[in-house]
Amino acid sequence: MNILLLGSGGREHAMAWKLNQSPLCDTLYIAPGNAGTANCGINVPLSITDFPAIRQFCLDNEIHLIIVGPEEPLVKGVVDYFKNNPVPLSTEVAQELRLDSVPVIGPAAFGAQLEGSKAFAKAFMERHAIPTAAYREFNADNFEAGIEYIRQHSLPIVLKADGLAAGKGVLILNDQEEAIREFTSMIRESKFGDASKKVVIEAFLSGIELSVFVLTDGKDYVLLPEAKDYKRIGEGDTGLNTGGMGAVSPVPFAGTDFMQKVVDRVVKPTVKGLKEEEIDYKGFIFVGLIKVGDDPYVIEYNCRMGDPETEVVMPRLKNDLVELMLATARQELDRQTVEQDSRVACTVMAVSGGYPGDYEKGKKINGLEQATGSDTLVFHAGTAEKNGEVLTNGGRVLCVTSYGSSVKEAVGASKAVLGRISFEGMYFRTDIGYEFN
Ligand code: ATP
Repeated sequence: MNILLLGSGGREHAMAWKLNQSPLCDTLYIAPGNAGTANCGINVPLSITDFPAIRQFCLDNEIHLIIVGPEEPLVKGVVDYFKNNPVPLSTEVAQELRLDSVPVIGPAAFGAQLEGSKAFAKAFMERHAIPTAAYREFNADNFEAGIEYIRQHSLPIVLKADGLAAGKGVLILNDQEEAIREFTSMIRESKFGDASKKVVIEAFLSGIELSVFVLTDGKDYVLLPEAKDYKRIGEGDTGLNTGGMGAVSPVPFAGTDFMQKVVDRVVKPTVKGLKEEEIDYKGFIFVGLIKVGDDPYVIEYNCRMGDPETEVVMPRLKNDLVELMLATARQELDRQTVEQDSRVACTVMAVSGGYPGDYEKGKKINGLEQATGSDTLVFHAGTAEKNGEVLTNGGRVLCVTSYGSSVKEAVGASKAVLGRISFEGMYFRTDIGYEFN
């Protein structure tokens, strides 16, 4: 079958790498992709939010399945668009695949609000008794009540812009007056544009974070390998937040008892809640959790896989990803069992100098040909090919994933491979997984 994958990051390269291994996959297209995805399929210069153009491409190229990598097309309604404008399958293919039209893996826009609106996600958790920090939501209409709420609240206090704010919309504050100033600027001065017209104020939870990945067909679910990512730019988790500088899987502190709590208290009620509320959701749920003592609390939901977590989750997933995607579309996930590679997988991200602040693009990447190893995979994030050379094309450039028998061994292998790669300004953290060494 022919598959179209939307996106262009390390997450999509890892997914493309995995999809390409399936005997069910004939031609894989990636839109727009990067220099790495070009080794797994055919890159096509489509905008991921130009739904009519994507549909036309599907018609012209006999696409049978669409998989969405990033949140933007989902929040903007790509699933709804294809529901209203289905791409037909030939009678023969429809019979063979047991599908009516080309499925799009991901939630419809309403369900994508689990990520797109923090107030929506919090209210959903409240309705389904899913453990999360206590909260209230405020807007211009109950602004004064918000100020009063902050005054009464313990510290630290967490302020969250309701909408998507590129990872910048969450403020953790240790001072009531500062919290009031920030709250005022969010609501009255649109600090984060429309995203902060509404603000969620919640209690601070102290613990250690991890990410759990669920694939649901709207009725049943499977659990993918869990992961922990490293968001800060500096060693020892210092400095500015980034899109993610590395990840490890499995997560050593997520033992069987804890994961059972995650399933019972979070995963099952989430999937059941979606079903009960008839929310059209056939796709990935990324649950950002914090372990407080021995108990899981939800920090956030995302409606897609994480990046860089996917770069360790896909390598540890033994199942055929195309089969899982088809089972999701057909609502047959109850017949699937996920098998995980028992090895540890770690990824280390190489970024452009200056990132997450200003950085230059177009730097030549050297050493990629030598950067291979039987236990190492080099996934591209912000790269582009020009005249036969691979150039940097973003802040996060390459993620090097290695398998190992321990975190230390896997990270060591990735660092050794990164030692053979170079581009002007290249930087990576050398301490990914440091707590587990
Ligand atoms: P954006 O919407 O701007 O992209 P985001 O989706 O990354 O932001 P969250 O994941 O909700 O926002 O929060 C970002 C980070 O802030 C979390 O990974 C966590 O470290 C911290 N955080 C959020 N809420 C809490 C909380 N209640 N207690 C402690 N830390 C928190």
